[in-house]
Amino acid sequence: MANTVAGIWSTAEQSPERVAVRSAGRQLSYGELRDRIAHSATGFAERGVIEGDRVLLIAPSVAEFVIAYYALQTIGATTITMNVMSTSPEIDYVIDDSGTTLVVAWHECAENPRRSAQSADLPFVEIRPFHETPDDHAPIPAYVDRADDAISVILYTSGTTGRPKGAELTVANINACPVAFRQLMQVTPDDRWATALPLFHVFGQAIVMNSALSQGCSLSLLSPFSPTAFLDMLRDEQITIACGVPTMWNAMLQVADGYSPEDFTALRLAGSGGAALPAEVIRAFETKFGCKILEGYGLTETAGAATFHDMNGVPVVGTVGPALPGTQVEVRDPDGGVVATDVVGEIFIKGPTVMKGYWNRPDATAAELVDGWFKTGDLGSMDVAGNVRIVDRVKDLIIRGGYNVYPREVEEVLYEHPDIVEAAVVGVPDEHYGEEIAAVIAPRSGAEIDPDALREWAKERLSAYKVPRIVAFVDALPKGATGKILKRAIDREVLRTVAH
Ligand code: ATP
Repeated sequence: MANTVAGIWSTAEQSPERVAVRSAGRQLSYGELRDRIAHSATGFAERGVIEGDRVLLIAPSVAEFVIAYYALQTIGATTITMNVMSTSPEIDYVIDDSGTTLVVAWHECAENPRRSAQSADLPFVEIRPFHETPDDHAPIPAYVDRADDAISVILYTSGTTGRPKGAELTVANINACPVAFRQLMQVTPDDRWATALPLFHVFGQAIVMNSALSQGCSLSLLSPFSPTAFLDMLRDEQITIACGVPTMWNAMLQVADGYSPEDFTALRLAGSGGAALPAEVIRAFETKFGCKILEGYGLTETAGAATFHDMNGVPVVGTVGPALPGTQVEVRDPDGGVVATDVVGEIFIKGPTVMKGYWNRPDATAAELVDGWFKTGDLGSMDVAGNVRIVDRVKDLIIRGGYNVYPREVEEVLYEHPDIVEAAVVGVPDEHYGEEIAAVIAPRSGAEIDPDALREWAKERLSAYKVPRIVAFVDALPKGATGKILKRAIDREVLRTVAH
């Protein structure tokens, strides 16, 4: 098995002094990390956790998350990770749905998890900074080697309708991304990775953390994200691979004047995913930081990535690259037929990263996973070279007066405006057109944007029916756990009242 626990063990044997994790001004070598994991694994085993038990872990992106997560993996527990902002009812639901037997949480966000554990009559473990915690358990002698189809992790997707569903990611699913990225990014143990992504989400966890630590690289963590702190980290720690979501690259661009490309000579790759990366942000980022920004696409249900730009080729801007090795992507029409090259349809994915199913949800599994093909809910197309273009989410498509408008196309144009920092385009119910197009905009600080002038400017770049009639201004757009813009948190009713 090529899993990350085995990778950590093997690096700890061969190069115990090599740096594994840096976070909050502290660092752990691979030898120390393996020892901490082995002690902590014994602690969980003494609490009665055995292979296959579901254990809920709630912690931010700190070294102690890494220790607890791999300690649970070491004893073969099925690990469930949740957002640190989760409320008690959200945690109660996951505990009940998953049949969790132990709750583990970081001391700074322990209140809700502790309360939920108490009300479910479950044991609770609070994790504290490792340097304050004595190693009072004997190290576990060996890790559990689970079968490829055993459920390694369950990650809940918040979903826009109904209750969250737990995506079952098997040992094989979880192993697939690091193996693919090792080849795609030509990763060596000398790589130094950095991220400010939450490790409880698939991107930070299954792509960044597992790829870095399975291959003996160092992993620098920042929590919470701040653009200057992240850029300082890239510069001071001579990071070679940085991973984040588009809003993070964009935020870094806003503070870029304090830095020069010479600060980032070690940086060989910025990996973006999770949401559309506007072409304007790519251009500006590559110019200011002198580093390639490559994009991938994936979902929680695909254990991270399904596509990634080719490092060696010239990435086709506007696409998310071809399918990962061993992964297949198809674009289908509503009747299930595969569409022609460059024609938009729904994206389906089959391959080693595609989840086993949704925990306890045979109906949802049967609806979204047929013959190994996962129905993504994303609209896109594929070019003749196999590059996938994400057009938008099916649910975000706006139908105005019978015309389809893809919000992303409108957002791409808005990002070209010199006074716009962030933009989200959504459909708002309208009596006449069915839906009206609304743009919610965060302007550059101090800039005054006149809505009429903006509509005129947009009209020169977009067909008239795509121009946002409703324009609202905010200081910052609502963001989810990963930092992605959260369109469902934009209040359509309030937008309806904006004069237009
Ligand atoms: P939730 O868990 O709340 O449902 P989510 O829908 O964002 O959140 P994730 O699994 O985190 O779920 O994200 C997957 C979605 O993110 C994809 O379905 C796609 O819409 C979007 N996405 C991911 N990568 C890209 C990308 N490179 N370009 C455009 N969209 C992307």
